[in-house]
Parts: sequence; C-alpha cells; structure tokens
Amino acid sequence: MKTGDERKKALIARYQALKQTIEARGARLVAVGKYAPDEAIECLLEAGCLDFGESRPQALRDRAQRFANARWHQIGPVQRNKAKYIARYASLWHSLEDLTVAEEVVKRLQGRRLKALLQVNLSGDPKRHGVAWDAIEKVLEQAEALEGIEIVGLMGIAPLGEDPRPHFERLAREKERLFGAGGELSLGMSGDWQLALDVGATLVRIGRALFGDWDARHSKEER
Ligand SMILES: *Cc1c(COP(=O)(O)O)cnc(C)c1O
Repeated sequence: MKTGDERKKALIARYQALKQTIEARGARLVAVGKYAPDEAIECLLEAGCLDFGESRPQALRDRAQRFANARWHQIGPVQRNKAKYIARYASLWHSLEDLTVAEEVVKRLQGRRLKALLQVNLSGDPKRHGVAWDAIEKVLEQAEALEGIEIVGLMGIAPLGEDPRPHFERLAREKERLFGAGGELSLGMSGDWQLALDVGATLVRIGRALFGDWDARHSKEER
C-alpha cells in the first residue's frame, strides 16, 4: 500500500509528464477527475493545474464552488434542468449538442459570456451523444445566433471498438474548415490522446491516465 505522500508524488509526476508533452504540441490538458476524490484535485491545483473537467453538471457546480480559482470544463451531457449549473460555473462547455438546452443556458447567463464547443457524434450511431455530421453547420448557425454563447470549436469522443483515426482526422478537417487554425478541437482521452495531438487537438481530456490509482475505476480493471 502506498502512503498518501507517495500517491501525491506519483500523481504530480504523471501530471507534469503529460502537461509537458501536451503543451509541447501546442495543446492544453484538461484533468478529468470525475472518479477521483477532492484530495487529488487539491494536489493538482497545488502543482499548478488550472483546467479541470467534470462530466455531471452537479459535480461541476460542487467542485467549482469548492475550488473557485480553477477553470471548470463541462464535458458530459447536459439536461435542461441542469442548465443553470453550466450558465453559472462552466469556463468552457465542451458538450453543446442540443439547442433547447443551449437556450436554457443562455437565459441564465446573467450577462456572463460563455464559450462552447459543438459536440459531434463521430460514429453516427444515434444512441450516442453529439450533433450528426450533416447537421453541424445548421446547429452552429442557430447556436451562434444565441446571445451570450460563443461557439469556438468542436469536440468529439472516439467511437467504441473502432479505429479512431479516420474519425479524428475528419473532425480535425471539419474544425479547420469552420473555425480555422484558431478554433479549438477538444479530442483525446486516456487511450487516444497522442493520436488526438497528431491530428491537431487543442484540448485533451484525460482522466484515468492522469489520476491512476486515485481514479475509482482503477482497481476494478486490469490495466
Ligand atoms: C470521462 C471522460 C473523459 C476522460 O476519460 P479517461 O478515459 O478517464 O481519460 C474524457 N472526456 C469525456 C467526455 C469523459 O466523459
């Protein structure tokens, strides 16, 4: 059993190694601590990490209140009744996929401006989240008409059980076409962040590869 100090040291070492590699490629690391305890978030904050992602809007709210000097990224699906948490606490909303939810968020911004990314459904499987490829331009146009939200790029998640490369490349081309070199591309998780950097990701969202044995999934799986 590792002591608390050893766990912290190992977490900081993983953070620094990931950060260095990711920033050398011109991208930013978003630390996804959705399965990690507050203690691990605190440890990363002390190590200088500023960008954190949460999947559930309530968790985003709780942690944004607790750790108010970090930037909190909403990366998971949002239902209308949780729009207030996004409006109030998200620094960047990665997972905009539904205009009715976006309208609800806008109503609650109270003068704040919010940056968001359109989440694209890479696999095209209707059971998965995100805007369909052929609806991107239309949703983008409608979302851009909303007062207070600024769409600054695209986000995607690798389809299950498929080679992510062609999907990642397609999303990167779409991002270039619609937003140019300055647009954000949120792509890549623990298993595919290097590939995401190869295609031009500007934000990579990493959970278990960063948090390691702090991640509640760790001991449940053979890795
Ligand atoms: C959980 C999650 C991540 C991080 O996944 P890991 O495999 O733990 O790196 C990234 N993006 C989204 C949208 C997630 O829900």
